Amino acid sequence: MATYRTASEEETIRLGEELAAALPPRRAVLLIGNLGAGKTTIAKGIVKGLGAAEPDEVSSPTFTLIHEYGSQGRVYHIDLYRLDEQRAVATLGLDEIFDREAVVLVEWGERFPQLMPAERTEIRIRSTGPDEREIEISELS
Ligand code: ADP
Ligand code: MG
Repeated sequence: MATYRTASEEETIRLGEELAAALPPRRAVLLIGNLGAGKTTIAKGIVKGLGAAEPDEVSSPTFTLIHEYGSQGRVYHIDLYRLDEQRAVATLGLDEIFDREAVVLVEWGERFPQLMPAERTEIRIRSTGPDEREIEISELS
């Protein structure tokens, strides 16, 4: 497990860019943390690092549930915040998305552990001050 600390939104975006370079072409990445922790912010950096879009083109998929970036759909960004039941999540067809040669970023995926791939990266973000964040990366097999 690796731990990082950032002191601004920009630093978190930069960290996301660096982490993107180490991701395999197919990987589920769970972004875990409270509302406002910085999950969408680090997603901006990862999408940028993968060359799929610029940070200001990346917005929260809270209402749309799934965003796709890059010409060949190399990055998906999913937010399950608004879904309460596993049954509702199951209708999204996430398995099919996880099977693609893509990096799949998921906010609130830890609420539905049975629907998440066992092999995944977990990025945990914790607020340690107004602009400070502690960011832990774990690789699950
Ligand atoms: P989440 O997706 O976890 O709900 P967001 O990424 O949408 O969170 O929002 C994070 C908020 O925290 C933004 O308003 C951002 O500007 C602010 N922020 C302040 N410091 C940081 C930091 N070090 N890293 C990430 N975001 C930060
Ligand atoms: Mg978010």
